[in-house]
Amino acid sequence: MQVLSVASECAPLVKTGGLADVTGALPAALMEQDVRMRTLLPGYPAVMAALDRPREVWWFEDLFGGPAWLLEGRAAGLDLLVINAPHLYDRPGTPYLDPQGRDWPDNPERFAALSWVGAHVAAQGAGDWRPQVLHGHDWQAGFATEYLRGMGARDVRTVLTIHNIAFTGSTDPWRLQALRLDPDRFHSEGYEFWGGISALKAGLMGADALTTVSPSYASELMTPEFGMGMEGVMRHRRGVLHGILNGIDESAWDPATDPAIPAYDTPAGKSAAKAALQEELGLPRAEGPLCVIVSRMSHQKGLDLVLEVLPVLLEQGGQLAVLGSGEPGLEEAFRQAAADANVSVQIGYDERLSHRLIAGGDAILVPSRFEPCGLTQMYGLRYGTIPVVALTGGLADTVINASPAALAQGVATGVQFSPVTAEALCNALIRLNGLYRDKETWTRLQVNAMAQPVGWSQSARAYAELYASLVGAR
Ligand code: ADP
Repeated sequence: MQVLSVASECAPLVKTGGLADVTGALPAALMEQDVRMRTLLPGYPAVMAALDRPREVWWFEDLFGGPAWLLEGRAAGLDLLVINAPHLYDRPGTPYLDPQGRDWPDNPERFAALSWVGAHVAAQGAGDWRPQVLHGHDWQAGFATEYLRGMGARDVRTVLTIHNIAFTGSTDPWRLQALRLDPDRFHSEGYEFWGGISALKAGLMGADALTTVSPSYASELMTPEFGMGMEGVMRHRRGVLHGILNGIDESAWDPATDPAIPAYDTPAGKSAAKAALQEELGLPRAEGPLCVIVSRMSHQKGLDLVLEVLPVLLEQGGQLAVLGSGEPGLEEAFRQAAADANVSVQIGYDERLSHRLIAGGDAILVPSRFEPCGLTQMYGLRYGTIPVVALTGGLADTVINASPAALAQGVATGVQFSPVTAEALCNALIRLNGLYRDKETWTRLQVNAMAQPVGWSQSARAYAELYASLVGAR
């Protein structure tokens, strides 16, 4: 099985969030399922610099405003196709934002170009390689199905994965021509969305199969609360929608071999990692649990609720250590919270520190208002760092709440709360504190958490079966 993955980010080369973790980990996980996946990426500076012995396989005279070259090569163990289009991708900042944090105004064209090249490779191959399936990720790959349709390419199947439906890739209708879209398809069965153009909508309507990153999020997407205006589309396409849980990179996130921490493979071994973290962050020893957060700071993540309940956590002898960046208001509020001796806040993005926090914490807080899958709660499980999570999306699917029944059966792995309010989070932290102080129960939770499978093998099998069913169904 040959699959072309079309993605706007891919770890470890370029990452702003969980999407990159998934596109970076899937190719290796799928190899074990006899699926060869090549990943098409924009030629951002970091990607171009990492590409080993690139070979030119195609040339585009005019790729949305300038010449472009399609390169094949390897980087970080990944088999890549890279679009070398300096006019679109040779820029500072993140894949989507300029150095001042503003969206690049030509983002619709930049990612239409990604989809355009993806469609060409799917339809005609690259060199002597030809995929049977084009697997796109999020709105950035959404137009690929439109372009394939325009090319009359019928013998390639398409899958679109929704990592976060909040990002619809919407733009104004005046861009239609610049985006090389067929004007006859500007209607509700095509890429039209509330009077505008949406790249995500195009993919949701056009792909042979849709997946999202957890079974619970798949159901939630059909509701007004979580569908973000796409709920009707999702209900319309429910027959082809699959919820396949993300896994984590078990080699990068393994407490027994993690070079960033004093290694451990039992709950008892965690104490050295905790002591090292407290010392590093200047936190005193405390009676209560050390709660950690590693997160984008956005409304989605519910971190404002943590600020609200922080006094209660501290009153109970607990501590908080935060690593994150994002909305300036939240960053500032956390900076101010760090005035307390039992609170540590690092604003920024730091991969190695994220490992030390997740290893050294007793609990990891993920109070998201919605969470398609979420990765940090799974890192927490693997490291025996008990997740305290909102009962939503992938957080609902990956954590077993320490209810009396689950505790009695010895299967609990964390604490869940609902609804996503400060009051419910506060109660969850009070429960957490009670569990933490009962050493036998706490150790049991940690043992269960560390034993829970959080890798890719099961999900990779599900993707492989999906590809096979699509290709077989031709
Ligand atoms: P999302 O994709 O919505 O941001 P996920 O939980 O799916 O959320 O993935 C977030 C990823 O980004 C995780 O791998 C997490 O460890 C990482 N991450 C988020 N913020 C930071 C940060 N400030 N420093 C280091 N890693 C971070």
